[in-house]
Amino acid sequence: MQAKKALSLFVVATILLTILIYPISANATEYFVIHGQGCGHGVGMCLSGAKGMAEAGYTYRNILRKYYTSAIPSSTQETQLIRVGLYSTTLATTISGNGDFEVFDDLENKLWAGTDGQSITISYDIENSSYLITTPTETIEVISSHITVSPTASSILSLENFSPPNHFRGNMEVRFSSNSNLLWAINELSLNEYLYGLAEASDSWPKNALKALAVAARTYALEKKLNASTPYKADGFDLSATTDCQYYLGYDYEVQAPNFKQAIDETTGEILVYNSNPISAVYHSCCGGHTENNENIWGGSALPYLRGVPCGYCTWSSNYNWNLSISADELQTKLNSNPTTSVLGNLEGFEILQAGITPRVKTLRILGSGGSNDVSGTDFGNVLKLKSAWFNFRPITRMSGENRYQTAIDVSKQGWNSAETIILTKGTDFPDALSGTPLAYKNNAPILLTDPTTINQETMDEINRLNPDKVIILGGKGAISETIESQLLSEGINSERIGGKDRYETAAKIALEVGSPGKTAIIATGSNYPDALSISSYAAYNQIPILLVNKDYIPDSTTDALNDLNIEQTIIVGGTGVISSEVQANLRNPIRMGGADRYDTAKKIAERYFAPFPGASSIFVVTGENFPDALASAPYAAKIGPCPILLTRSDIVPAPTRNYLIGYTDYVKRLYIVGGFGAISEKVQNELGSL
Ligand SMILES: [Zn+2]
Repeated sequence: MQAKKALSLFVVATILLTILIYPISANATEYFVIHGQGCGHGVGMCLSGAKGMAEAGYTYRNILRKYYTSAIPSSTQETQLIRVGLYSTTLATTISGNGDFEVFDDLENKLWAGTDGQSITISYDIENSSYLITTPTETIEVISSHITVSPTASSILSLENFSPPNHFRGNMEVRFSSNSNLLWAINELSLNEYLYGLAEASDSWPKNALKALAVAARTYALEKKLNASTPYKADGFDLSATTDCQYYLGYDYEVQAPNFKQAIDETTGEILVYNSNPISAVYHSCCGGHTENNENIWGGSALPYLRGVPCGYCTWSSNYNWNLSISADELQTKLNSNPTTSVLGNLEGFEILQAGITPRVKTLRILGSGGSNDVSGTDFGNVLKLKSAWFNFRPITRMSGENRYQTAIDVSKQGWNSAETIILTKGTDFPDALSGTPLAYKNNAPILLTDPTTINQETMDEINRLNPDKVIILGGKGAISETIESQLLSEGINSERIGGKDRYETAAKIALEVGSPGKTAIIATGSNYPDALSISSYAAYNQIPILLVNKDYIPDSTTDALNDLNIEQTIIVGGTGVISSEVQANLRNPIRMGGADRYDTAKKIAERYFAPFPGASSIFVVTGENFPDALASAPYAAKIGPCPILLTRSDIVPAPTRNYLIGYTDYVKRLYIVGGFGAISEKVQNELGSL
């Protein structure tokens, strides 16, 4: 995990100013995989890291020293009161106690006294600027700045209509704020009593992690209390009960978290100061490997105790890295839902303009057909509900249809507005299409698939859209019947056929049609497709014919083609399990491209023939488990590249494919995925887009 993190840091640094624009296409679906690291703002203490450090044996003071650079331990009076604002959208609340309680106005006149189990309702009448207190015996109307409900002894109050609901220690002050036009319930209690109710960590965490949190949370609350410039002061409290400050659930959390309570008691009064003042001891869920400088997230001046530091202790967290796929259309809709992040015209891509000391995005340019819009990484992240501002994008084009025929059509639409020549091959077997890829490239032709006896309507529509001079049918009459030719002719389309008595002879005839300017041929098995598919875009681009052999012998038609083309060099794709050493011994100057499995073979081919990364800086990823989807994509991979063709499983990215992408991530600007989500799952898409 550490190695990967270091790599991604490097990568983001080098491609920071790269513009990512996706090709506008009416056909294929454009996605962005947004991948990032960490959860929360990333400033101050990484809570996941605190847990990791505590597990590694560090004390809570070690932990605090690491994340709050330059701050030193100090102490404060535990007994001072903290005022927590509880939020409601209603103008009334019902309060009861598990013991006696008293009700006062702002001059501390006692208005009423309640006992265990009794409840009162306090509501605010905006028109009369008065509070109505409904008790079991009477209704009292009071003009006052607020109403205070105060338990006698240490009974617990319960509160309705507020968030969080239920039970609280200390006093409850009900106060209408003309500032926010809301009725606030303000829970006033001692520092430790407040801290007991903070649900910011799991109670099962190691004691030193909980103590580090206790000291940070205490310091944070005290700083907020002393800081006159917070927005909460106008509403009469120090902190809100939400994650805007610290997540406070009151007495209901306290009873669930005895270990945290003990950590608070054991650090009573302990805080962190800088220049004798309590620091703004912010913290977050997970930093993703490195915390950030405060000014890079919130602006303002740099605080010496909130410098970004490497973490290395939060890799265990599920938030350490994350990803999600979103279609370009959906992304545009979401961005347009907020004026701050709106797209001018049609979304064309993103440019990261400024990052912090980590890849956390400070400023991002949203590129649209009608202009650009610069937004902060935090605003962008908030609108899309991203876990953190540490993110980047990888554009993905997915070409797919409901079946193999439609996928071939989708590739054709993506790659060709029109075509003088179309290659038509049967969709029920692979070899003819595979051998046909160099021929397709030579003629700048898409490959379309057909059943052996009938061209389906969608494919015929696509043929007509491309408006070809001719269709080249690959395969003998046994593979594709003569009815196909008549069907084309009835649409006014001429065709010619390249076919032999079997796949080997058809491949040989195609090879003669392609020629071999480099006197090189690719030798592939006639029994399976993945190995040859991986090299087909390279073969097509370089006009190297693909000939087929049996595992243990070279068919005569293949031998004849090798001789007729004066082949001096052969590239065998696949291991000895698919093409034997005996076959190899009978070939001229053979190079064998074989790996541990099809995924590894594809990686080895990509490494040998596609590095340094050429062309469109794109990679094709197709299924290694089922052939027809991918076959038709090879001519397009050659046309826009040549691009390497890697293989994946449907629900997991095999290690060779993963390793290749990690190695070349700096060069890869776009992934093309061929096939639907059944063939290549969204999980795999996300993973591929994150590497
Ligand atoms: Zn961390």
